[in-house]
Amino acid sequence: MRKKKREIVMDFQAILEEIHKEIQDVLLDGKVADYIPKLAAVPLDKFGMAVQTLDGDLFTIGDAAENFSIQSISKAYTLILALQFIGEDRLWKRVGREPSGNPFNSLVQLEYEHGIPRNPFINAGALVIVDIILSNSKNPGQTLLDFVRQRSDNPGIGFDNEVAASEKKTGFRNSALANFLKSYGNLENDVDSVLEAYFLQCSLSMNCIDLAKSLMMLTNHGLSPWSGEQILTKSQAKRINSLMLTCGTYDAVGDFAYRVGLPGKSGIGGGIAAFIPGKLSVCVWSPGLNSNGNSLAGTLALELFTTKTGMSIF
Ligand code: GLN
Repeated sequence: MRKKKREIVMDFQAILEEIHKEIQDVLLDGKVADYIPKLAAVPLDKFGMAVQTLDGDLFTIGDAAENFSIQSISKAYTLILALQFIGEDRLWKRVGREPSGNPFNSLVQLEYEHGIPRNPFINAGALVIVDIILSNSKNPGQTLLDFVRQRSDNPGIGFDNEVAASEKKTGFRNSALANFLKSYGNLENDVDSVLEAYFLQCSLSMNCIDLAKSLMMLTNHGLSPWSGEQILTKSQAKRINSLMLTCGTYDAVGDFAYRVGLPGKSGIGGGIAAFIPGKLSVCVWSPGLNSNGNSLAGTLALELFTTKTGMSIF
């Protein structure tokens, strides 16, 4: 006997509304990133979430349309660009693909592993990745901007130069990491240009909707559902999702995988972008962070999302 296929229609909007209510208790428990002075001024009570499905539906709640500093989520874009520029073989000679088990801006590991960063999502790895882009593009900032604007279909996306300048003033650790990398011969360009490009990428100002749309190729096996372009091969999309699952939320990656069950990339602006390949992208923003630098209410919201919908990669 043939079983009749049963369509389950998920009421994502109702689920987002429930989540919005349920995260209120912890909304003020996180701490904004204050080592970048401009980010310290963002109000703690912000919360937004956007779900973009492969079927083309968009669901939003709260401050989903408000721009914030995406910070380390930009490392997903730069990894894609670097892969497009030099391919996997060359890229993985300069950066590893193992979880670091250390804070994202840690220096020690880089020294005992001789200047090869553990993965492209910690700061040291992202500095190598942006160095690759610098070596292959005349204007790396514009290359990144073009990519993000096109992928999210929002020509209004830009950098927040004040945030970039603010981070530059206090970016002593990143400066130390870049100098270390240079001393090990793992930067082709000069340290100042690499740092400049890195601070600029981190200052990208976007909202949850832009983010969910722009990374849909990770949900759609490398293919842009908007333009039909193959941005990544199917295998590359799988690999980037795998890297996010194992390295995307730093030294809290085990806890994040346990609670949320999705590949995701976080940033200290309080954003997290997560993916259910074949189905949807879900992005959340709430600036209060936990001690690992991931959004506290954002992580809870994603945990509630996968629990309530019963959808995860497992
Ligand atoms: N710009 C930040 C830094 O380098 C990015 C870190 C993050 O978002 N985790 O410290």
